Amino acid sequence: MPPTPPLPAVLLGRSEAHLCSATDAEELGARLHRDAVEPFRALREAARREGFDLTILSGFRSFERQLSIWNRKAAGELAVLDSDARPLNVATLEPRELALAILRWSALPGASRHHWGTDLDVYDARAKPKGYEVELVPAEVNPGGMFGPLHEWLDACIAEDRAFGFFRPYDRDRGGVAPERWHLSWAPLARVHARSLTPTLLRETLERVDMRLKDVVIRDLDEIFERFVANTAPEPA
Ligand SMILES: [Zn+2]
Repeated sequence: MPPTPPLPAVLLGRSEAHLCSATDAEELGARLHRDAVEPFRALREAARREGFDLTILSGFRSFERQLSIWNRKAAGELAVLDSDARPLNVATLEPRELALAILRWSALPGASRHHWGTDLDVYDARAKPKGYEVELVPAEVNPGGMFGPLHEWLDACIAEDRAFGFFRPYDRDRGGVAPERWHLSWAPLARVHARSLTPTLLRETLERVDMRLKDVVIRDLDEIFERFVANTAPEPA
């Protein structure tokens, strides 16, 4: 039986009913969709056999948290990075340019795959030097970076269909979200969520919240949705 479509509140990060137990969250170091817990544990165990300590930096993220990130970036309180992860001077950007720049690295509230609990950002805790704070930047995950070996192993697992359903939605630059090798998604469930999220639901939601750059985002939402939300790698079959 195909999974039932998720409720709008789940799609938008406004429900936590789909998340794993507090005990599981503590053990995983993050909250995930309850159905994604066992597949993640299987992937982590496979990684452990290869000498990696596959660790979650970020799992579920709520609508309110994503809204706060968005508003702080739009206000210049959090760094907005260019495609090479260098800080931009937001004061020099027009509203549309600023919105597009934020979208390169941050989802619109309501449109983050982290809302679903199916998506997570990972690193190799064994390769992390003591005291080093993981930033999730390309230099860490590219070949030669401290987490490069983990990601090369993950590349092989995904290509050979032994990643327990996980894949990389932001595998390469498709002109929308920047490549994010650290971001994994559990396809069997994420695919159902991705199909259910529409520009109409997003528009109705954003119209009602206190969000910076709202006018330009609402105006260009169809284009933004195509370029930054729907524009991901195809899920594995
Ligand atoms: Zn992510």
